[in-house]
Amino acid sequence: MRPFIFIAFSIFISMTVSAQCQYIPDVGLAKQLEESRNLRSTFKADPSNAALTRWYGKEVISSRILPLADDFESLRHKGPGTIQVDREMTVSGKGSIRLDTPVSLDVKNPSNRNYGMPEIIRPLDNEDLHDYNRFSVWVYVDAPGIYLAFTGFTLYNEGVKIMPVPGRFEGQHFETVYPNKWQRIVWEIPDLYRDKVTGLSVNIMMTGAPAGASEQMSLYIDDMRLEKVEPENTRGFTLRKNAIAYSHSGYKHGARKQALVQNVKDVSFRLHDEATGAVVYESRGKAMENGFVLLDFSDFEQRGQYTVSIGNITSKPFAIGDDAYLATAWRTLNFFYAERCGYDQPGIHQECHLDVLCMHPDGRSISVAGGWHDAADMTQGIGNTAEGGIAMLEMAAAVKGKDQVLYERLLEEARWGLNWVMRTRFGDGYRQGGLIIGIHTKNIRGDKDDMEAIARNSPSDNLMGAYYCALAAPFYDTSDPVFARWCRNCAVEDFEFAMDIINTGQPVNNSMELSALAMTVSMYMYRLTGKQSYIDYAAGFARTVMNCQQLERRKDWTMPLHGFFYETADKKRIQAYYHQSKEHLPVQGLSMLLTDVPNHKDAAQWKSSCQAYADYLHDIVEVMTPYGILPGAVYEVDNTDYSNLYHEGEQVGLPSLEEYNAQVKNGIRLSKTYYLRRFPVAYQFRGFHAVHMGKAKAAFILARLLNDTELKYIATRQLEYIIGFNPYAASTIYGDGYDYHPLYGAYAGDVVGAVPVGIETFENDDEPYFPTQNNCTYKEIWTHTTARVLWLVAELFKE
Ligand SMILES: [Zn+2]
Repeated sequence: MRPFIFIAFSIFISMTVSAQCQYIPDVGLAKQLEESRNLRSTFKADPSNAALTRWYGKEVISSRILPLADDFESLRHKGPGTIQVDREMTVSGKGSIRLDTPVSLDVKNPSNRNYGMPEIIRPLDNEDLHDYNRFSVWVYVDAPGIYLAFTGFTLYNEGVKIMPVPGRFEGQHFETVYPNKWQRIVWEIPDLYRDKVTGLSVNIMMTGAPAGASEQMSLYIDDMRLEKVEPENTRGFTLRKNAIAYSHSGYKHGARKQALVQNVKDVSFRLHDEATGAVVYESRGKAMENGFVLLDFSDFEQRGQYTVSIGNITSKPFAIGDDAYLATAWRTLNFFYAERCGYDQPGIHQECHLDVLCMHPDGRSISVAGGWHDAADMTQGIGNTAEGGIAMLEMAAAVKGKDQVLYERLLEEARWGLNWVMRTRFGDGYRQGGLIIGIHTKNIRGDKDDMEAIARNSPSDNLMGAYYCALAAPFYDTSDPVFARWCRNCAVEDFEFAMDIINTGQPVNNSMELSALAMTVSMYMYRLTGKQSYIDYAAGFARTVMNCQQLERRKDWTMPLHGFFYETADKKRIQAYYHQSKEHLPVQGLSMLLTDVPNHKDAAQWKSSCQAYADYLHDIVEVMTPYGILPGAVYEVDNTDYSNLYHEGEQVGLPSLEEYNAQVKNGIRLSKTYYLRRFPVAYQFRGFHAVHMGKAKAAFILARLLNDTELKYIATRQLEYIIGFNPYAASTIYGDGYDYHPLYGAYAGDVVGAVPVGIETFENDDEPYFPTQNNCTYKEIWTHTTARVLWLVAELFKE
């Protein structure tokens, strides 16, 4: 009933008030906004929408107890602390195993990562565990003075394949544990090698004690079991049984509105009004290959909350019309608020990292506290900080005059990031670029947890600073001209610092990407100042970018593609992203040039370049029908470069050319040596949301520039894939949509609106893989991907 009451009410109130907020939050969002006073405290997730709740309720087909307290002498303990049986603290009634451990060691890890992970191992005798597919255990943490702890679970296998895989992130599972209550862990292991299992274990991360916290903590474990359940689908394109893939955030007016089912008896489907249950739309789905049936209700435009049903399967509610994606916008903003550094964030951490310094070569130093932690660890860097703030400003522009509360809250959070970006620069080109921060510190300089970053003077860092500040200044001109002036001056200076280095012609690894960034930022500087010199800069960088593009169709390939970019003008290697993605930058800058100076002598070339890239997107989107997600990139056999590949930890598990070639050849063959991969070639770091969203951003930009509606549909589908239109029929965003998995949150915990690195691939396969196993990098929460979701949502609110 709720939507109708609100709509009726809003018609009667004055135009001024209705202009303050055109959008109606759904029940869940309305509750979060009220409880948090419009995001003045962090949002709480609704557990009834979590996949974990469904997993807890699965029928256990068979179960085997792995004795703990009853077989204490067999257990092994690795790392700091001591273990004993505790007969008082127990869920099984048999007693638990208690680990007492310090939360830090005398000396900090040089990598700034955690101090250690003391572990209790339940040994097994080279057992074949294929009769089971789930590990279950209860854990309880007593850690006075901290809000949350991070526990890990390991399967040790020494058969066909060693698990955990050395140097990779397979064979381990992690969960956030909240102190002072028993918590059940379930970890489905259908994809793990388990032919000769030597043990299963539980560990806890030694994170260091923040100010006021105890130096000791205890972990209790009890009721460890192996179970057999009907497992989640994890690999490939087959849709989860009895599930509908659709956009949990809903569908805007004019959107292509589709949902997907598989293996149904009858293709007729219905839309129901959520409040009354009344059928408001009926149609028949379109049968496709492999038993897929596409449900299309694009012509239904009545604003409201609906469910879709087919046979005896019914979706959860979603919005059609203006209110679609409103919850996703607020929740991704919540993620950034929760990730604030140098800030007292109740439920997550105390004021933090005031003692982490950035050192200038001349001896000056700046505290890097402030801004937002980058991911599950507490890393701090300019690139992701700037992109987070830029996404907020784009969203603010999109809702200005339509939702004043959201507009002002976006500007407030963007200002938090701006302060950090402007305060961590030394004024001579040097600034805080990035530093891994992986422990809590006590905010006292001179003790064991001190960390230091070395300031750097990098063109891309300064361009990102200039971009953020140039975009921001006009937003604050009226409300705070002093702050706006600071933004404007930083933008002008940072741009010049970048040009000082770029103009010296120092070689760079990827001249296309840097030129594309410089072109785009030049255009933001032009829009800020109106000065012709910035157009000249942008046009110059545009020439470099276009020299890196494949304009002629590759008629020697089975798909005659063109429009994609190479890393450099010599076209040695095609640009391919696998972790972060900047794929939108070439067309972002070119499109701004075409919009602002359409009569420039190079305009025809800019247009051809944009059209060629648009062709590329149209051509490649076909390969993953019916999901409609954009594939990774074209790769050439034997043509890779590991010199800039980041690998975490010891030099174990490094990639090889054989592994690269095996992955390439699992792609779609274009010629003897070229293949189009559906998903990027990747090794230790996997999860590809950023790669889909970089292309989606480009598609939105080109849809507007070329008036190409199909490209807008393609762009929107990439976002829908992240929030439900995927083989798992799950939202991958924590606390937004339905069936969202627990994510790898570590120091931040379970944060509403956190977007993970993304759906990954299994070994050398070229199909989606999204296990219940919770580990970095694929399940790790990340500013880079969360910013991109907010950024794409902003595109949908622009009209
Ligand atoms: Zn911090």
